[in-house]
Amino acid sequence: MVDMQREEWLGLLLKELPDRLIVINEQGYVVDSFSEDSQSCISYQTCEQQPFYERAPSVITHQLTNSFEFALAKGQRCSFRYSLNPSQLLQLSIEALQQWGEVEERWFEATFKPITLSNGKRYVLWQDREITQSHLHETELKRLAETDELTGILNRRAFIHGLECEFNKPAPSLLSCLMLDIDHFKEINDQVGHLSGDEVITQVAHICQDLIRSSDFIGRLGGEEFGIVLSRTNAIQAYDIAERIRQSIEATPCHVDGHIIYPTVSIGIAELNSQVSSVKELLVQADKAMYYSKQTGRNQVTIYYHNLPEIQPSTELKANIRRAS
Ligand code: GH3
Ligand code: MG
Ligand code: MG
Repeated sequence: MVDMQREEWLGLLLKELPDRLIVINEQGYVVDSFSEDSQSCISYQTCEQQPFYERAPSVITHQLTNSFEFALAKGQRCSFRYSLNPSQLLQLSIEALQQWGEVEERWFEATFKPITLSNGKRYVLWQDREITQSHLHETELKRLAETDELTGILNRRAFIHGLECEFNKPAPSLLSCLMLDIDHFKEINDQVGHLSGDEVITQVAHICQDLIRSSDFIGRLGGEEFGIVLSRTNAIQAYDIAERIRQSIEATPCHVDGHIIYPTVSIGIAELNSQVSSVKELLVQADKAMYYSKQTGRNQVTIYYHNLPEIQPSTELKANIRRAS
């Protein structure tokens, strides 16, 4: 900077900013813009005829105006993420489309920050940054964190989180929770080996997945145990779906390593109604019903109800757990 005038130096810095910076006056017109590089596709050059949001693709107009108005009204910065694809640029100009390149979808983060000059004039700085790479990276990390590696369905944590989200809605809708456990799985493992056992787990998961709607969800809760949430479904309706799942699993042979296995499952159902006070309680009820299915013959479905008999495990199966004194 030594040999440069300060103004020249600042001009250079603004031109070379890694993110696009657009200055908008209170009326919504662009009064200055910096770092309009060739990658930007949409130009927001200074223009006092058309508000900035009218020059953006219509899919983001609403978010842009909301954020702009919020920043001015509250005097606070605010950000949002948006994505664009080539068809949304078509409405703008052929040039915008030509700048786009090969990418199917690009992600951006827009930040609006209000500023007030010493003469009282107010402006909003709009910083627009492309975040496609980091967005894809984050999406992939989220997918990995939520997915059960073996079956591709939700893992336990993501399943319970999904259930908690349903439970915590201001007016939770009716739903039923299914708990499902493969019968005599230790034997399957012992006879065909652990890896083939894995294939049985995967097949069962996929049969369930194929039989539920897109508004429902399934997760692997542990070894060969699954949870299913059926939205807008009472326990009686859930029973029909659970029966369909049970019969489909029973009827679908699993071919592994020279063996044909006919797995069966035991299922428990609990309905989320006003008497259920927590997600944990709902899971305990579904588990009790599943346990009842196990203890009264396996390969069947049980709906939880208040006085469902507690069946004690036989003495030889009891774990050595004693009451702490
Ligand atoms: P039940 O009919 O009472 O359910 O009998 P079970 O033999 O299925 O008993 P349980 O449900 O307790 O057995 C679960 C077994 O699943 C024990 C464990 O060795 C096996 N297991 C747990 N995780 C995995 C896994 O990821 N892959 C395989 N192949 N086996 C697993
Ligand atoms: Mg089992
Ligand atoms: Mg089990």
